[in-house]
Amino acid sequence: MNEYQSLWNDTIDKLNEMMDETNFQDTFGDVKHVSKEENGIIYVITPSPFIKNKINSIYSKTISDILSNLTTRKLKFKFVCEDELNARAVKQQPAFPIINKHNLNENYNFESFVVGESNRMSYLTATKVAENPGTTFNPLYIFGGVGLGKTHLMQAIGNYIADGDVNNKILYVQANEYLEDYGRAIRDNNMKAFEEKYENLDVLLVDDIQMLEKGKSSQQEFFKLFNNMTDRQKQIVITSDTPPAKLNGIMDRLTSRFQMGLIVDIKQPDYNQRVQILKRKLLETSQVQVSDDVINYIAENFVNNVRELEGALTRVLWQAEILNTTPNIQIAKDTLEILINAQIKDDNSNYENALSVIADFYSISVADLLGKSRNNKYVLPRHIAMFLLKTHYKLTYSKIGAIFNGRDHTTVMNGCQKIESELESDKELKMAVDSILKKI
Ligand code: ADP
Ligand code: MG
Repeated sequence: MNEYQSLWNDTIDKLNEMMDETNFQDTFGDVKHVSKEENGIIYVITPSPFIKNKINSIYSKTISDILSNLTTRKLKFKFVCEDELNARAVKQQPAFPIINKHNLNENYNFESFVVGESNRMSYLTATKVAENPGTTFNPLYIFGGVGLGKTHLMQAIGNYIADGDVNNKILYVQANEYLEDYGRAIRDNNMKAFEEKYENLDVLLVDDIQMLEKGKSSQQEFFKLFNNMTDRQKQIVITSDTPPAKLNGIMDRLTSRFQMGLIVDIKQPDYNQRVQILKRKLLETSQVQVSDDVINYIAENFVNNVRELEGALTRVLWQAEILNTTPNIQIAKDTLEILINAQIKDDNSNYENALSVIADFYSISVADLLGKSRNNKYVLPRHIAMFLLKTHYKLTYSKIGAIFNGRDHTTVMNGCQKIESELESDKELKMAVDSILKKI
């Protein structure tokens, strides 16, 4: 038995210990064989696209954790259906050898990226960079919250460039992987592998640059790499959870370099976009018909993060499958209730932070924000606070009333409605609320 097969067997054994037997059999019962290993990727054969998607969306984190406990080598399992492997084999027999080996996820492309208000600017910029790498905006710096599509968009740039010219040397790397690579090279006093990986790149995609904060000497090294790329007019794309000026623990000469090109951000998708994302995801992964009320319900309740949005859909599909029926609104409510409650609980514990952010924003005290004074200085911030506790933290009107020193339910409701309707026309108010939301 080859070593990759036995790695998979060991992984399966661990999963078996962790999962309940029926669930284990349903999911992994027919996922037995490793097809091949290539560039650190171990291809495991799944009996159907459904099982493949289920493993990818529910178990991939667990599986990669198990694998990293089994081996120190940089390996990854990839789940494929047999016909995919065959199609791939046919596709990969061009007249000339493919030199273009990259580590991008092919599913992260521009076609599968749903564009809306929250990400249009980033999307358009990314396509522009992909068409003229190295010369339009260098570096391109994309920032935004967790699970909003930064990695997807960054890799879409890479995939687009890769499709255009097989000779491009494209590298996607997470900043902490860069740290590890450099640390290892120094520790082993051997720069060879490190240099080979990072030299002569045509495109460098560095994900989650904020992770670089931990390594001072790595930052020096990265500074050299950065200059080497820009001097040769080679494209760099960087993602982060904050704008460059707010990066902590990263040397100024780097953060100022990050501002040389163009900085764009991705915000939370609005309702319509969330619906589109769910529909797209359905098209890609399932043949099941899902009615609009189910889609709408999910889109209404998972607002912060596309990853969680997609996870919610997967959960509903799976539950319906277990019950041997098509997804309906009752199934959606039943299966998602626990996740939605968890979100509310999470947020509940944080609303106090939101109150201080709002008070700070308007330079008033939290006591005044919650207090009874009708001074104009306090009324608007107070309404905004009520509105955000309702929409963002999902608190009930009466709970909010209690927080605001025993105001009654209708007072709170009026405050919330006022903000809601003014947001539609008042640009300044919208900017204020957006900026508060970003801070919380
Ligand atoms: P981030 O890197 O910002 O944390 P990811 O790029 O990993 O987020 O996105 C999380 C998941 O959501 C991925 O599966 C990605 O494909 C999906 N996703 C995010 N934004 C979009 C979008 N606009 N259209 C389609 N899928 C998206
Ligand atoms: Mg990411």
